[in-house]
Amino acid sequence: MAEIRCVRNVVSFFCHSRFARDSKKARVPSVQFELGTPSAHDRHREKGRHSSENMATTSPSAMDHVSKKPKLADGEDAMDVDDKENRKIAKVAFDHETHMRIYYDSLFPAESMMKWLAYGNDLKHPQADAGFMQRREFCFTLPGDVFVRYQSFKDDKELRKELKSKLPSKIDIGPVFNVDPSKRLAYSGGAGSDRVFAPTEREFVMDIDMTDYDDVRTCCSAADICHKCWPLMDVAVKVIDKGLREDFGFNHLLWVYSGRRGIHCWVCDKRARQLSNEARAAVAEYFSVYKGTDASGLVKRVNVSNPLHPSLERALEELKKYWRETYLPEQQLLEDDKYAEPVLAMIPVADVREEVKAAWKRAPKDDSVQKWDELVKRVDKARKAVKGGPDKWALDKCVNEIIFAHVYPRLDVEVSKHMNHLLKAPFCVHPKTGRVCVPMDPKDDDFDPNKVPTVIQLIDEMNAAKAAGKEVSYKETAMNDAVETFNRTFWNGLKKECKEEMDQLHGKVREAVAAAKPLDF
Ligand SMILES: [Zn+2]
Repeated sequence: MAEIRCVRNVVSFFCHSRFARDSKKARVPSVQFELGTPSAHDRHREKGRHSSENMATTSPSAMDHVSKKPKLADGEDAMDVDDKENRKIAKVAFDHETHMRIYYDSLFPAESMMKWLAYGNDLKHPQADAGFMQRREFCFTLPGDVFVRYQSFKDDKELRKELKSKLPSKIDIGPVFNVDPSKRLAYSGGAGSDRVFAPTEREFVMDIDMTDYDDVRTCCSAADICHKCWPLMDVAVKVIDKGLREDFGFNHLLWVYSGRRGIHCWVCDKRARQLSNEARAAVAEYFSVYKGTDASGLVKRVNVSNPLHPSLERALEELKKYWRETYLPEQQLLEDDKYAEPVLAMIPVADVREEVKAAWKRAPKDDSVQKWDELVKRVDKARKAVKGGPDKWALDKCVNEIIFAHVYPRLDVEVSKHMNHLLKAPFCVHPKTGRVCVPMDPKDDDFDPNKVPTVIQLIDEMNAAKAAGKEVSYKETAMNDAVETFNRTFWNGLKKECKEEMDQLHGKVREAVAAAKPLDF
């Protein structure tokens, strides 16, 4: 287990309320795949998307289970869909009520999701915690941005029934509370009361969003993604997956495509589910290497030591390969002053900086890889020429710092820090793109978000199967591949562990019964 570096301040759940600052516009419920350039208002909303009112509070009011607010954890429901792929999807006539009813009735794998979330407490075992599922919060976003919070379901049948009845455009999953969240009012507690409504466990979650990489991708910005920038997400999955497994010993990681421009990771080991908010913040900070720019807005700041922390040393292997073989050739970063200037600004010694700049100027036809090699060569020469002192120390770190500043995973740490942060459920349909939030195989280098099935595509596939006389089921559609990935990369391993834990618990109960003295009448 690697050291946990530091515990950042745990912010109050109750400050910076988006309710207070953000009036929201009504949406047209039946048109889901909207197009257009983001308005300033939407961009503003996007910036503040992770503020604290996204979280369940421990002092709920009578009406807060049905509320209107702009967005929840991942902020992906802004009105800023303008990528080319989504324009294609938008040509398909989508009717929320018709298509989502079919989706929730026949395509949404409620059984797989609820089996996972029960963690073995599925009532088939006498030692299971019978009320476990009833304490897990689900939040539905209904068309028109009506948020229905604090719902819970005892099993997949109850969940599916409610999905078919309410037809949410989005489903979020919250924590497991100490009581059924629908009964929380009885536990709102007064001063001195021990009847407190509080979360008791929740997966440790991570959110990586492509919009946080806008300053390091030349191909797209905002909601756009393409094959040139998506590898930034691939490399993020690889680095974080290794870090969580090798540095923290976590085994049960569920990676999910967010349906549009990002990825989520659900860490589901029991240890991870029981982390305190402070420990969550510390794990998130451990992976928080990129620290934004300095006051000039030009120089990127990174938290990189010299020599490198073993975790970063391991990550660097992956990053270096990606940087030279894929990132620089694809993004052509150093051929555009807008992106090359900030790279030069990270060279800490002015003379060396000017030398590199002049060398680049003398060879204007050099591509980004050639320019990079020139930079490395000149920094290395200067580094060796300096005997000691702060310049040497800074030059030693410089090349690594540039790589980490551009391609090390950029987490939205606020999502990870609190047990009661809501996060969009796997297998949910993204309300703007219509794509399913499918599980991802972290070992798959070829994940293509443009090939992720849309709800329309799945319905077409199911209809084709029906016309061919086959079973009307998700198994005849691309959803089968998504469920297979879920089982293969995540659930099969976790299921085994849950079963072992239940058996162990059962053994302990039997031992206790056998050891108990017979009652003396
Ligand atoms: Zn791109």
